[in-house]
Amino acid sequence: MNVHEFQGKSLLKAYNVDIQEGFVAETSDQAITIAKQLQEKFGSRFFVIKAQIHAGGRGKGGGVKLAKSVDEVGELAGRMLGMQLVTPQTGSEGKKVNRVLVAQDVYYKGESDTEEFYISILLNRNTGRYIFMFSPEGGMSIEEVAEKSPELIFTEEIDPGMGILPFQARNIAFKLGLSGLAYKNMQKFLSGIYETFIGCDAQLLEINPVLKTSDNRILAVDCKLVLDDNALFRHSDLLAMRDLNEEDPVDVEAGMHNLNFVKLDGNVGCMVNGAGLAMATMDIIKLSGGSPANFLDVGGGANAKTVEAGFRIILKDPAVKAILINIFGGIVRCDRVANGVVEAYKSIGAINVPVIVRLQGTNAEEAKKVIDNSGLAVFSAISFRDAAELVTKVLN
Ligand code: GDP
Ligand code: MN
Repeated sequence: MNVHEFQGKSLLKAYNVDIQEGFVAETSDQAITIAKQLQEKFGSRFFVIKAQIHAGGRGKGGGVKLAKSVDEVGELAGRMLGMQLVTPQTGSEGKKVNRVLVAQDVYYKGESDTEEFYISILLNRNTGRYIFMFSPEGGMSIEEVAEKSPELIFTEEIDPGMGILPFQARNIAFKLGLSGLAYKNMQKFLSGIYETFIGCDAQLLEINPVLKTSDNRILAVDCKLVLDDNALFRHSDLLAMRDLNEEDPVDVEAGMHNLNFVKLDGNVGCMVNGAGLAMATMDIIKLSGGSPANFLDVGGGANAKTVEAGFRIILKDPAVKAILINIFGGIVRCDRVANGVVEAYKSIGAINVPVIVRLQGTNAEEAKKVIDNSGLAVFSAISFRDAAELVTKVLN
């Protein structure tokens, strides 16, 4: 699960990590109020308005703007709110901006220059350890750095049993070229972000840029935090940060029904119980001259309700020319599933594409009778080969 920049920063702050302070606004009036608060609390002279969408590269797309007065904050926020923001990461349709973060400008001039770094924490699955990835070339996209100057990307591996050790934090701060107060502050920053990462059960924490201010503070200016879905059951506070507006509506609907659904770009929709059988079904769709429109595993306990939900989701895709339902009746009895299919078919009403149902296992013969006697435009098959032949037939 992804969270917004402002949510990620609030978590960092809870773990005593210094951040570019700000608050989130849904209207330009709120943005003005926030700017005034930032002025009072932090003495901010300038402000940044940042679009809150689940995509990076906002700076390049016009989703990060500097405002030099409270009035300008209202103007810029008003323009940004409601816009369809296109960045290198959103695709051409862009993403709607429902909220903006109004933050203090932290690039102010002081006794020294500001510097931007890249720092992320992720899991190295090969070694089973966490890894700090960092670069003195922050601010720009890390993919660009990797391409142009890979020698400027460093890593430091962390033993999860030990956590980040002081010598490792010093190592990172040194390689980033820091000294004095900034060197010290960076070490505190590093242990703070590591604690945030562990405490939230994150799978990725990426801060780009980390800023050394002109007075040698180390701040998180941006924050990309991806939480591990498998650990969310023990973080109800984090789960509350989920923003369904940012997710694909079809994925949200599939999740509500506990369906494992992945959209693909073929022409044959499929609904299967079990991931292995689903893979085999996608293969057979290919063999029969079609290509799978999706992966859909309805799980072990498929009933009329899950079948109906699966049907509805598959039918949303206009590219679907046929649907293949492939259920192995082990624990679940085939005749039950067949009745579920018939019920779902009737309740949805207008299904204008041929549906092929292959039921194999317990009570397969009874199931075939249920389908054949239903009077619906549903073709039944028992063997894999029958199913493949039917797919070829209905596509041609
Ligand atoms: P991203 O483009 O989506 O990654 O958004 P970021 O939060 O990383 O912001 C993009 C860029 O905006 C940063 O790399 C900075 O150069 C700039 N920026 C962010 N905050 C400030 C600020 O307080 N003042 C100024 N002048 N620039 C900022
Ligand atoms: Mn960034």
